[in-house]
Amino acid sequence: MSSQVVRSRNVLKRNSMCFAAALLVALASFVARPNAALAAAPQHHDQVPGFYRLKVGELEVTALFDGFGVFRPDWLNGTKATMDGVVKALHEDPHMLDVADTGFLVNTGKQLILVDVGAGTWWGGGALGRLAGSLRSAGYTPEEVDIVLVTHLHSDHVGGLTTQDGKRVFPNADVYVAKAESDFWLSPEIAAKAPKDAQPFFQSAQAIAAPYIKAGRWHTFSGSEPIVDGMQVVPLPGHTPGHTGYEFSSKGQKILFWGDIVHALRVQLQHPEVTAIFDIDQTAAAATRQQLLSKLAHENVLIAAPHTSLFPALGRLREEGSGYSWEPVIFTDQWDDR
Ligand SMILES: [Zn+2]
Repeated sequence: MSSQVVRSRNVLKRNSMCFAAALLVALASFVARPNAALAAAPQHHDQVPGFYRLKVGELEVTALFDGFGVFRPDWLNGTKATMDGVVKALHEDPHMLDVADTGFLVNTGKQLILVDVGAGTWWGGGALGRLAGSLRSAGYTPEEVDIVLVTHLHSDHVGGLTTQDGKRVFPNADVYVAKAESDFWLSPEIAAKAPKDAQPFFQSAQAIAAPYIKAGRWHTFSGSEPIVDGMQVVPLPGHTPGHTGYEFSSKGQKILFWGDIVHALRVQLQHPEVTAIFDIDQTAAAATRQQLLSKLAHENVLIAAPHTSLFPALGRLREEGSGYSWEPVIFTDQWDDR
């Protein structure tokens, strides 16, 4: 054995002893301060991308998160007893009126169809407007979208169509909206007579629609004329004059995009008579909701509900007591092909 090998073995032995000693010191300090290593790791506050997809027959449906918000109890109209109950429940659970904003993409295999597009930059506050990012995270681009179906012209549903400087976010898309809805919000005469706090809704609707009208890509419908194969228009008036749902069917399965039938899920399913101050016709909004909830509770229809805070904002209705309960689709990171 050469002297060099003996020397390097000794160095190795000395080093491993040093290492063992260092390990003991480290372990001792770990035992003395069990949270030291955890505290050293920086906290991460980012979340997963906001999309979730599932299959409805042969359709691929992707929920696209646009943002979140909190509904206020004074935005709801109900009897004193009901509203006292809401305020009390809210005190016990501050998240009871949490809401989200969600748009939905349907890939039929032939066309890419968006149902509502979130708020873009038209709602303010910065908590909304993420839909285009969610769309990209889901593997699609705004340029690929062929059709946008609009439930109604409130800016939390159509703001994502247009930038503040009047550019179309979906340059190759044709936009479809009920004629009653388009005629109402785009009328300068109706806008002029509207109360002051309703004026911003008219102004945003007109600015958002303008570039699509100019490009010949703003289309209205008044009956049940076919727009997309396998899709039925479902008039749901009340929240707004031309508020519309869209029901897609494929291979015996159905999904209904119901727009703003419900804002505060945990209040309005138990009390469908409770309306929102944003409902233009309060009586019609309540009647439409009562009829639709009762119908859906007896059908196997998947519901896309933009404002439920239970992402992916998809679920089914069941009767519960004098009202209804929500059976949510549960998030998973797997493609569920059942
Ligand atoms: Zn809305």
